[in-house]
Amino acid sequence: MDSSSLRQLLRSAQQDEAEAKRRRLTLYFISYVGGTIMAFMAWINMGTNNPLLVGTLAGSAAFVYANVALSHMFPRVDVFFYLAGLVVAFTINGLVYTGGLNNTGLYFIFPLLFIQIIVVRFKPAMVYVAVTLGITIFMLYNQEKIVAEYPAEHVSRFLIATFSFICVAFIGENFWHQSRKEMLRENLERMRQANTDPLTKLPNRRFLEAVFFERAMQDPGAHFPLSAVVVDIDHFKTINDTYGHDIGDEVLIHITRLMKEAVRTTDVVARTGGEEFLVLFPHATLSQAVKLAEKIRKVVEANPFVEGDVNHSITASFGVATALTDTNLHACLKQADDNLYKAKNAGRNRVVE
Ligand code: GH3
Ligand code: MG
Ligand code: MG
Repeated sequence: MDSSSLRQLLRSAQQDEAEAKRRRLTLYFISYVGGTIMAFMAWINMGTNNPLLVGTLAGSAAFVYANVALSHMFPRVDVFFYLAGLVVAFTINGLVYTGGLNNTGLYFIFPLLFIQIIVVRFKPAMVYVAVTLGITIFMLYNQEKIVAEYPAEHVSRFLIATFSFICVAFIGENFWHQSRKEMLRENLERMRQANTDPLTKLPNRRFLEAVFFERAMQDPGAHFPLSAVVVDIDHFKTINDTYGHDIGDEVLIHITRLMKEAVRTTDVVARTGGEEFLVLFPHATLSQAVKLAEKIRKVVEANPFVEGDVNHSITASFGVATALTDTNLHACLKQADDNLYKAKNAGRNRVVE
């Protein structure tokens, strides 16, 4: 796995839940409250002689309820947010067109615009608000085409107030947006540090447990059969004892590079202990994984560590196992460990399945 896919995976792990939940709850709240208010207003306007207004309000309320019901059923679908924004645009201009009760409809446009900005989110919301107000302005300056009648001084005051309001709303949204982005960036950096090993820059055990296995469980089709290869360098203590700890560190970096070069970017090489690594092959059967482990074993054997006066052949032992489904993932890791132990006992520098 290269650093950009690691970053990608960490980013999706951090953002998904909190942001999706916040938006969903906003949509639910606004839809239930807004839908109910619109239904209520349709009801109190029933007595007035304005069937178009009643129709607009009742129709919008029905649409809002249907939209929110569907978004409960398909919580991951984004289109309901945009549909909710469209209902708001439609309601705003329905109010402007009909004038609401005795031409008081313009008062309700401020909260409705704010709802539109929240539900549709920053950049698309700019387009929504621009189009919505474009239609509003057209109607206000072509009042012979609409039912409502607004005095000229109301129109100009309304437009000035609206533009002030929109500026303030977008400045607020922008600050929120920026500070959230900043926070996510810092959070991502902290997560990256917590999930990588500082020496080899490989993902660590925490990454496997908290991010990769979680992802595999969520999307088993893309990961299983998942093959695990536990790799342990042979007689590593001798290297430390002979050349010192710093050379030992260099050897770990050397082995890391060899392993990363031997696998694809969709495979994961993680450092799980001192001189122990776990290589994960998504969508690989046991026999494929054994072949890949054998390939890594040969590469390690064929590339001694060379630096200055030091020229030291290195070998490693490998334990392989495969999880056919997510339910046997932990059993598979245990099996791979047991197989590594067998490889060590059988004389090292070998692959055991
Ligand atoms: P075996 O073939 O049975 O695996 O023998 P081994 O010597 O590789 O295994 P053992 O577990 O006895 O020793 C592992 C050594 O790895 C001990 C520890 O000091 C060393 N080690 C652990 N982490 C690091 C590290 O980050 N850098 C260095 N240089 N050495 C480390
Ligand atoms: Mg070892
Ligand atoms: Mg060991």
